Amino acid sequence: KRRDPDQPEFHQAAEEVLGSLWPFLEANPKYLNNGIIERLIEPERVIMFRVPWVDDHGQVRVNRGYRIQMNSAIGPYKGGLRFHPSVNLGVLKFLAFEQVFKNALTSLPMGGGKGGADFDPKGKSNGEIMRFCQSFMTELSRHIGADLDIPAGDIGVGAREIGFMYGQYKRLRNEFTSVLTGKGISYGGSLIRPEATGYGCVYFAEQMLKQRDQQIDGKRVAISGSGNVAQYAAQKVLELGGRVISVSDSGGTLYYPDGMTQAQWDALMTLKNEQRGRLESLHGDGCEFIVGQRPWHLSCDIALPCATQNELDAEDARHLIENGCIAIAEGANMPCTLEAVDLLQEHRILFAPGKAANAGGVAVSGLEMSQNAMRLHWSAGEVDEKLHCIMQSIHSACEYYGKEEDGHINYVKGANIAGFVKVADAMLAQGVV
Ligand code: NDP
Repeated sequence: KRRDPDQPEFHQAAEEVLGSLWPFLEANPKYLNNGIIERLIEPERVIMFRVPWVDDHGQVRVNRGYRIQMNSAIGPYKGGLRFHPSVNLGVLKFLAFEQVFKNALTSLPMGGGKGGADFDPKGKSNGEIMRFCQSFMTELSRHIGADLDIPAGDIGVGAREIGFMYGQYKRLRNEFTSVLTGKGISYGGSLIRPEATGYGCVYFAEQMLKQRDQQIDGKRVAISGSGNVAQYAAQKVLELGGRVISVSDSGGTLYYPDGMTQAQWDALMTLKNEQRGRLESLHGDGCEFIVGQRPWHLSCDIALPCATQNELDAEDARHLIENGCIAIAEGANMPCTLEAVDLLQEHRILFAPGKAANAGGVAVSGLEMSQNAMRLHWSAGEVDEKLHCIMQSIHSACEYYGKEEDGHINYVKGANIAGFVKVADAMLAQGVV
């Protein structure tokens, strides 16, 4: 905190991990005596750069671009790119730090990284988005590579942006390699990658519910966000017979009192991915838009926060507990504040942190890299089955390290220790680097 006083999100993420690891570290002093913790919280490399671009009025605009190469102990750096005005060094360091543990949990050989820019894609034309992506990649291309650092999407970076960046990388380097994941199917993408984070989150929630002999079928599920993760979490919940009662965006919550229908899901997909419109415009016809509200005051059995960091605080957690919510799985990264997590743990609510519950996205990105390396293409069924197995194995790892005496699984502790052990053992084996 003394060295980087203006990075509250990074401190929050580090505090959560180190707090839950501490008893394990004290019982295993080999991890305390080798500067492992000090090295884990210091990125291997931070790259910051100017991103100049020209808007539709011929005006030159300048944004700041970043890539955090956090840890490469178990594989090349891997993690998404975020384009959002709130992006700064502290936010990206928190995301990169979380990514290190998450990637380790997938059991695939991927180190951790994250990047992005303080660029706001909202209201920009297609041409502006393309020129921004090309300028961003012009600098980023010097620092990444298929065996070095493989970025993917995140908030504000979807299939369209990945396409523009991939095209620019190829043009600059004159090579067709797996340097980005989340690519379109026609140029090396994997089936199920768009669905993977949302599906994976629901697969994880299913595993958690089994602890209480429950299932998704018939449950009321509150979802926040309406982007990539939220959309496919909603689809999987519908498929499993659950009732999706909300989605949201930064303007408010769209509430479906009787549960979202398939037609309403289709309308959401068209609005968000083709028209790029605001949720408010879907108000009416079986759903109500509640301006400025998050979904957590709604009565639900399961909550899936899938929008952004710190979108569910202690007061929200109290509402959920009072309304009988039994499980929360984080589709987003760190959507629950530390205080909210403490409350949920105290009340023995099933709670899965993002590094476990949303690891399906990066896992399928890893599978996309494997397919590219083998120069072949797996079917949707094959990828989905592998995703399902990976989410089950992450659940087992959390159970192994996080089961408490009364049988309750502390998923925060379990995920942190399981991810840490893999990375720390690799770091120990490789000496002080
Ligand atoms: P998208 O850009 O597709 O969607 C983001 C959604 O979150 C939008 O509905 C957006 O609303 C909302 N949102 C963003 N910022 C805020 C804010 N400050 N306040 C309220 N709502 C906000 O992103 P993704 O769905 O890809 O990512 C969502 C979360 O999931 C992020 O935390 C991301 O890091 C995490 N994640 C994503 C993965 C992936 O594969 N995509 C993998 C693992 C984690 P609006 O349009 O109004 O801004």
